[in-house]
Amino acid sequence: MAKKQRQCLIGLDIGGTKLMTVVVDEKFKVLGRFRMKTRGKGKARKGGSLFDRVVECVDGAMKETKIGPKELLGIGVGSPGPLDPKTGVIIDTPNIGWKNFPLADKLSSRFKAPVAVDNDVNLGTYGEFHFGAARGGRHVLGVFPGTGIGGGILIDGRIHHGASGAAGEIGHVVFDPEGPLCGCGQRGCLEAYAGRLPIAGQLAGLVIRGQARHLAEEAGSDLRDIRSSQIAAAIAGGDKMVEQIVRREAARIGLAAVNVVNVLSPDTVVLGGGMVEAMPRLYVEEVSRAIKENALPFLAKFVTVVATKLGDDAVAMGAAKLVAERLAENQKNGKNTRNAKKK
Ligand SMILES: [Zn+2]
Repeated sequence: MAKKQRQCLIGLDIGGTKLMTVVVDEKFKVLGRFRMKTRGKGKARKGGSLFDRVVECVDGAMKETKIGPKELLGIGVGSPGPLDPKTGVIIDTPNIGWKNFPLADKLSSRFKAPVAVDNDVNLGTYGEFHFGAARGGRHVLGVFPGTGIGGGILIDGRIHHGASGAAGEIGHVVFDPEGPLCGCGQRGCLEAYAGRLPIAGQLAGLVIRGQARHLAEEAGSDLRDIRSSQIAAAIAGGDKMVEQIVRREAARIGLAAVNVVNVLSPDTVVLGGGMVEAMPRLYVEEVSRAIKENALPFLAKFVTVVATKLGDDAVAMGAAKLVAERLAENQKNGKNTRNAKKK
């Protein structure tokens, strides 16, 4: 083989519906991507566990980009939490069904490569910080509204984990302790108002009352599975009351961000996730406005609000960066990772 051996990293994003990988070289140039549904059909579903599908997805990514086991430097993984970022054990994820699952160890022994694991939203924020919309920042708040509302905090460019390992849960900032029930068991959390499901509930009311003509055409009255793109299309089509509802909830996300701004004084708030990708301007406007009008002026003037640049790749890119750093640290500390001496 005359060709110089490539050195590649894989970043993997374990989502509730999709598994997504990016394969990058040492300079983080994307060599390829591979995606699968989180819950499989047919053969994979029948005896296959989620871990089997994760393995299948990493295999698929390696095949797609034609990289061999020796070219794989490491795998970074973004997973829903809570999890232990030091050990890579997933502590409890009701959505995908893992409990005290040693993901890093299992994946590492399967692919004979180092594996680093962190919370998906932390890594989305991290990806945007290194490669996307939050570049140039130092203290970053990431907010990713989707079904839930995830948050990530970077202080001095490092992911802030806190005592529990699970810091950054902006979706559970409490607006009203007697408010609507949240998925976490508490009441009145941000997510219980501004998550995709409560928004869909409000929009369904509009459709039923005949106040959202375009949305009715887009999605009908059963809005449980409504896509962000359909909401965006209805607003673009002129459904004013749909726009009002989405703006109100985007502003509520802004208010939660105000509280974080006043406490942590970030320089960048990066917004991502499906709703933001579909309506970036609306979300940036409402969150910026909330910060400008409600945060302490001296802190507010340091903050820039931006929308995701990496979109679907954010978590996987952050994961690739995470494992690259873990490798560099290990090398510095003289730990003999499999590829450390290969040069
Ligand atoms: Zn909650």
